[in-house]
Amino acid sequence: MTAAIPLRVLREEPAPSRFARRLSGGDRPGELRAGTVRTLQVNVGKRCNQACRHCHVDASPLRTEVMADDVVDACLDVLARHPELTTLDITGGAPELHPRFREMVARAHALGRAVLVRHNLTVQFEPGQADLPEFFAAHGCEVVCSLPHYTAEATDRQRGRGVYEKSLAGLRRLNEVGYGRGDGLVLTLVANPVGAFLPPKQEDLERDTRAYLAEQHAIGFDRLITITNMPIARFEEWLRRAGLHDEYMDRLEAAYNPATVDGLMCRSLVSVDWTGHVHDCDFNQMLEMGLAHGLPQRVHGLDVRALAGREILTGDHCFGCTAGAGSSCGGAIA
Ligand code: SF4
Ligand code: SF4
Repeated sequence: MTAAIPLRVLREEPAPSRFARRLSGGDRPGELRAGTVRTLQVNVGKRCNQACRHCHVDASPLRTEVMADDVVDACLDVLARHPELTTLDITGGAPELHPRFREMVARAHALGRAVLVRHNLTVQFEPGQADLPEFFAAHGCEVVCSLPHYTAEATDRQRGRGVYEKSLAGLRRLNEVGYGRGDGLVLTLVANPVGAFLPPKQEDLERDTRAYLAEQHAIGFDRLITITNMPIARFEEWLRRAGLHDEYMDRLEAAYNPATVDGLMCRSLVSVDWTGHVHDCDFNQMLEMGLAHGLPQRVHGLDVRALAGREILTGDHCFGCTAGAGSSCGGAIA
C-alpha cells in the first residue's frame, strides 16, 4: 500500500540560529548561498529493509511512503532539461525497493549523467534484487555503501544483528562484478560514528578499513568517506533518550570549522523528497524545511538555473556539516 501524499505546510523560515551567527563570525546572522546546481538528489521514499538506529530518514520496512509516478516523471524531466546537472544521486530508504528505481537509473545513464546510488548492501538479499551488482555495473553507477565500521560488533550495534555478515556478502558480490578494483566501477564505503561523537580522521579510518577488509575478508573498495551523525530524526531521539543531546550539540558547535563552508553539499545540489517538494539538502528535507521564500517549491517544471545563487536555509543542525573536517554526501570537506 502506498501512503497518501500529505498536505504540506512547510515550516516558517526559522529565526536566526546559533549556526547563522557562526557563519557571520559575529552577532548578526550570516548567509549561506548556493552556487550552480550540479546534482539532483532524489529521495524516492522511506521504505527500507533495515531500521538503523542512527537513520536520519526514519526509514524502515514498515514505512509506506514512496514517490508517485508523476514525481518520478518530473524528476526525470528536470534532469533531461538541464545538462548542467551532471549527477543523479538516488537515495531513500533503500531506493532499490522503489518500483521505478531501475528505470530512473537507466534513463539518467542514457542521458549521459553520472548516477550515484546510496546502497545499504543488505537490500541485495531481498526478493528480486540478487542481480543488483550486475545492474549497477551495466549502468556505471557509483555505489555508495553504508558500513558504519569495519568490525562486526560496531556495525551490528547500529544496524541490527547479522547486518555485518550480510553487508560483507554484498561487498563480495560487488567485487565479483568489478567494483572496488580501481577499474572505473567505483565502490565507496560510508562510515559513521556508532555513538555521540565526531568521526575519526577520514584517511586514518580508510587505511584501517582497507587493511582489515583485505586481510580478513579479501574485500576491496575504492574509497571510504566519513559522515557525521546528524542530530535530527531517529538519531536525535536516541540522543535525547540517552541524555546526550545538549552535549552532542555543544560538541558539534565547539568543533565549527569555517573552512568547511565552501564545500557544503547544499551549495551544489538540490534534494527532492518523495512528495516532489524541493529542499536545500536531505537533512532540511527531513526537517520539512523547503527552499527560501519566493523560490519554486516543487520539482514539477522546476528550472534549476533559478536556484543558482539562492539563499540556503540553515539551522543548528547544520553544525553537523561543519564540525571538524566537515561532513557531506561526499564525506569530509576540509
Ligand atoms: S540508515 Fe539507510 S539502511 Fe539504515 S534504515 Fe536508514 S535508509 Fe535504511
Ligand atoms: S544541513 Fe548541511 S547541507 Fe543541509 S543546509 Fe545545513 S549545512 Fe547545508
